[in-house]
Amino acid sequence: MRIERAENAGFCYGVRRAVEMTTQAARENAGSGRKVMTLGPLIHNEIVVDQLRREGVECVDSPDEVAAGALVIIRSHGVPEAVYEAVRMQGAEVLDATCPFVKKIHEIVRDASDRGEAVVIAGDREHPEVQGIRGWCSGSLVVRGRSELEKLYSEKPEDPPGRIVLAAQTTIRREDLQEIAGWYRERGTHVELHDTICSATKKRQDSCRETARRSDCMLVIGSRTSSNTKKLLEIAGEECGNTFLIETIEDLRDLPLNDIKKFDTIGITAGASAPECIIKEVIATMSDIITENNQEQNEMLAYMEDIEKSLRLPGRGEIVTGEIIAVSDKEIVVNLGCKKDGIIPKDEVSLEPGQTLTDVFKTGDEIEAKVLKTKDDDGNILLSKKKLEVNEHWNEVNEAYENKTEVEVKVTNKVKGGVIALYKEVSGFIPLSQLSDKFTENVDEFIGQTLQVKVIQTNPKRNRAVFSRRAVLMEEKAKKTEEFWNSIDVNDVVDGVVKRFTDYGAFVDIGGVDGLLHISEISWGKIKKPQDVLELEEKIKVKILSMNREKGKISLGLKQTTPEPWENIGSKYQVGDIIEGKVVQLKEYGAFIEIEPGLDGLVHISEIAYKRVQSPANELEIGQIVNAKILDIDTEKRRISLSIKETLDRDAEKAAPAPAPAEEEPEEAPVEEPEVAEEAPAEAPVEEEAAAEEAPAEE
Ligand code: SF4
Repeated sequence: MRIERAENAGFCYGVRRAVEMTTQAARENAGSGRKVMTLGPLIHNEIVVDQLRREGVECVDSPDEVAAGALVIIRSHGVPEAVYEAVRMQGAEVLDATCPFVKKIHEIVRDASDRGEAVVIAGDREHPEVQGIRGWCSGSLVVRGRSELEKLYSEKPEDPPGRIVLAAQTTIRREDLQEIAGWYRERGTHVELHDTICSATKKRQDSCRETARRSDCMLVIGSRTSSNTKKLLEIAGEECGNTFLIETIEDLRDLPLNDIKKFDTIGITAGASAPECIIKEVIATMSDIITENNQEQNEMLAYMEDIEKSLRLPGRGEIVTGEIIAVSDKEIVVNLGCKKDGIIPKDEVSLEPGQTLTDVFKTGDEIEAKVLKTKDDDGNILLSKKKLEVNEHWNEVNEAYENKTEVEVKVTNKVKGGVIALYKEVSGFIPLSQLSDKFTENVDEFIGQTLQVKVIQTNPKRNRAVFSRRAVLMEEKAKKTEEFWNSIDVNDVVDGVVKRFTDYGAFVDIGGVDGLLHISEISWGKIKKPQDVLELEEKIKVKILSMNREKGKISLGLKQTTPEPWENIGSKYQVGDIIEGKVVQLKEYGAFIEIEPGLDGLVHISEIAYKRVQSPANELEIGQIVNAKILDIDTEKRRISLSIKETLDRDAEKAAPAPAPAEEEPEEAPVEEPEVAEEAPAEAPVEEEAAAEEAPAEE
């Protein structure tokens, strides 16, 4: 059972303000001999009025009864303007506690009246607030609703006026106000409408209705004479059949408590004049009743449970808790609260080597175990702590499966298609394909090993779990690869190891990932095949030329780690220098000499020897190392002219017999780049190049 207090229950702003003003005035004037009086009860609540009386506040019915020199408090409903004057005529002072919302209505009707306009007040003419309002204007009409208007005007000789100022009592329904305005408008009256209805009332009524809807019993706290309390009682009654008015705490005694105790929810609301102290007292008293009731209920339930438990025997597989009543080296006896005791044999407990049951368990301890048999040979319930642990271990395995976390297992034996591994008391299977990230044939090497694995399948009912070490290794690899990609960038120069050759280049391991070093990126010079320059497992530095993380491809360059020969040729070679080079190509018009990889010079046929040379091939051969003098360096056209004869002894050469003259000898060598090695294309052939582009970086 629970208590729900409605929102917006109790004092409204205007009432609280009036009570506080009065209490403060009473305390300030206490002992001064000056009387503090209210005109009529400050609010519709006897308890509050009594309390104020004890504070010295007197209540009088009319200004005539006011004592001279007294401080007279005007209550929140307000009073007619004339009352202020009447009080002052008695030689008393006025302390105006009229609610500011009501005061506003006074101003509206007074201004309208001053302008000579007809004032209509929507409300109850008997209500003190309305009587107060009427006292601020002259000739006002008070109506409650449409039917009253119909009746009124049917009796009146004149028609409704052409214009009215319409204000409302703060606590009437908005629908009533609209209805009255509508009635006038339908008859051509211009209505100056002032919606002076106070939202505090509506909010209190709405929350009362909502709470009543959710409650089995509704207590409405307030005075029988308070109109807003009566309204709350009516609303609550519409929604909840068990609605009661509580004026004082004594009224709780008259409630059908035996019935109320059976309810789940008790709703509580309070009228605008119900002080907080009463609301709290009602809630506290009801809480005591509930607690008492709940206690009774709980005790009864516990008793019933005990009885039921003692009669019922636990079923097989059930987890039970009991108190150890005896421990020996052979078994533990457990009181399960039923007519039979439970027995846990030593074999059903996990003990460390050398441990005994009496080392670990003692009489009076609480113990949890799993029921193996409801009746052993002696008629006792056979329990196992080990099996319970298996349950816990299965929970851990399931958790690891759900959360994709790793567990540590020990491989115990080989079976067909894989191995069996143990996670604590849970036995699982590791298929051959899941033992490693590489093909594994020999599973014997895994027996006895402790491995980190992922749980890839579980079935506790069938006692089955499948583990994967491969998943762990693959994850580690993926993590490393991710770290690798994050650590490199284009133009980085990194360490690598040559791993394998292809026709179009070499694959180089640069830290777990292989990049392609294309043949054209190996040397500034021409090479026939990568093996001419590189060896397997050779450690080299390579530059990252491009990378594609999505496709996992990296292009590498080796030649880019050294300066391009033409870049700094001026600092290395000068005209007139004698260089040593290798003959790399022979043409009719001369020979190409490689000065260094990527830097070739031409020895024109006329510069091969002082003698007449018919064909360069007659004098030189491919691969021959020769000395030559640099005659010219054209950096723009990237050409170097060399002379071999300038390094020779002219006289010695002249002594040699002259060869037959060449039939045609070009004056100047044609502009022609040296041919590249035919066997080694500068770039991989079309198909191979395509293959190279697609060749993934190998891990
Ligand atoms: S109900 Fe509204 S208008 Fe009336 S006293 Fe309370 S706050 Fe003021």
